[in-house]
Formats: sequence, C-alpha cells, structure tokens
Amino acid sequence: MGAPPILTPEQRSAALLKASQSRKRRAEVKLKVKNGEFSIDTVLEIAANEDAIAKMRVSDLLQALTGVGKIRASALMQRLRISPTRRIAGLGRHQIKELRSECMKSSHALTPGKLLVLSGPGGVGKSTVATRLRTTGDFWVSVSATTRSPRPNEHDGVDYFFITDDEFSRRVRADEFLEWAQFAGSRYGTPSSAVEEALLAGRNVLLEIEIEGAKQVKSHLGQSLLVFLQPPSWEELVSRLEGRGTDSPQRRAERLQLAQEELAAASFFDLVIVNDHVERVVEQLIGLTS
Ligand code: 5GP
Repeated sequence: MGAPPILTPEQRSAALLKASQSRKRRAEVKLKVKNGEFSIDTVLEIAANEDAIAKMRVSDLLQALTGVGKIRASALMQRLRISPTRRIAGLGRHQIKELRSECMKSSHALTPGKLLVLSGPGGVGKSTVATRLRTTGDFWVSVSATTRSPRPNEHDGVDYFFITDDEFSRRVRADEFLEWAQFAGSRYGTPSSAVEEALLAGRNVLLEIEIEGAKQVKSHLGQSLLVFLQPPSWEELVSRLEGRGTDSPQRRAERLQLAQEELAAASFFDLVIVNDHVERVVEQLIGLTS
C-alpha cells in the first residue's frame, strides 16, 4: 500500500469536518432506531443513498435495537457470516435479506411490539373486530393482498390490496408474503415487509387471516400469539353467513362447508375467545398486549 496522500491544511480541516458531520448523522440515525422511529429496513434504504449511513458498522446498527447488546449482535452476525467490522455498504444482497428476516424473527425480543394473529371460521366476525381495533390505535392492522374482486363497499389499499393472479404469483415467487393461502377460490397473503416494519418500530401487529395462514405464521414466528375467534353457536354462525348477502348461494354453501372444517382447528390455537360481544373481544385482545 502506498503512503497516504499529503493533505494541505485546508484539505485536512475539510476532511475532519466531513468526518465529524458523518459521525453526527450516524448517531442521529442510531437514536431513531433506538426510539423505534426507524426500522432496520428504513436504515438500509437510507444507506443506499447516503454515504455517511452506508459507512455505518452493521454491529453498531444492530446494537441500536432495543434489547441487543454486543454479544447478541455478534452472535447474529456470526450466524449470518457477516464479518465483525463489516459496514452496511459491504453487505451482499443475500446478507441483507437474511438480516431483515432474522431481525423480524427476533423482533418480539427486540421490541415491545407483539404479533397477534386473529383467526377463526369465515363469518365469525374477525373483520368487524379488526376494523374496531384499527380505530383504538392499540394495533397496527395488516392489510392483506388478495386475488378476489372487491365487494361494493371495499377500497383498494384499505380493506385489501386487490391484485391479479399473475401479480400474486410473482409476489409468492419473490418471497414477499409472510404467509399466504387459498380460500374459497381466491388467494390471500400477508405482505411481510409492512409487518416487519411495524414490528421493528415496536408496534403491536394484528393479522386477521384464515387458519392455514395462521399456522404458517406460527411456524415462521414461534413467538406470535394465535387467537381463535369462535361463534357463540353453530346456528349463530350459519345465520351470520346467510345474512351476508354479498356472496352467491354457491359461495355461501362453500363457506359453510369450510366453516365446519375450520371450527375443528381451534385446538391448534394459543387462545380461544367466543365472539358474543365485539367490545368484549376487543378488550380481551388489547389486554393481551400488556
Ligand atoms: P373475505 O374474502 O371474506 O374478506 O376473507 C376470506 C378469508 O380470508 C377470511 O377468513 C379472512 O380472514 C382471510 N384472509 C384475509 N386476508 C388474509 C391473508 O392475508 N392471509 C390468509 N391466510 N387469510 C386471509
């Protein structure tokens, strides 16, 4: 290696100023990670455009997360085969992907946010509970993607992201779903990046999904809490499904058949709550976050 270039006094003080500004900026970003304002994803995005952040050491970034000290950060980096002195700019694409997924897996330990999965038979009232929980502010409620057509009162980006079959397949191939499942002839999936972002920011996250998807979440994220919403009785469920009026008779019959199978899955769940009163269910779910 050749000798370092000889700098004029002006060049030297400009370099010192730049270095001190970069350190200040890195400290600012780390503080935002600590406060839960920035997720790892956000920092990785900033690093793509900002030299000062691209030069941040990966170990410093990890240690800015609540609950991660030197030992946990170095164990995680060792597992992902990231060298101890690696800076963000030096991470490969594969390492970035693994880092994101590891941070998501351990996000319960890293942040005060919890992942609650609300499931149960179609027609039991999951979406009413989820809609109510959106307004209380206790949960960030995930918006799923689906290939089914919107119902008259539904809005894209609010109730669902309504996407084509091809686009859904593309997202499956690109591994963009935390879980996905086929239900009554359509596909439904939870976009992982938004859930990851919310968990890493310390929010309590609620997924309102059908049973196969709930099982997938449990297998990926063992610390998630699976809640099964049960109807007060079978008759009550039938009357709710029949009263819907938005489905064709054939679709309703399919949903009843499915609901029967779904009710048998309650034992797989961490907790069963009877939906006899929406407000009571909402209170119980909020209680699970404390
Ligand atoms: P609907 O078509 O009536 O809105 O929903 C049908 C079923 O799909 C419901 O049981 C609902 O909970 C479930 N669902 C909605 N979003 C998702 C998702 O992202 N993943 C899975 N697995 N199920 C979902």
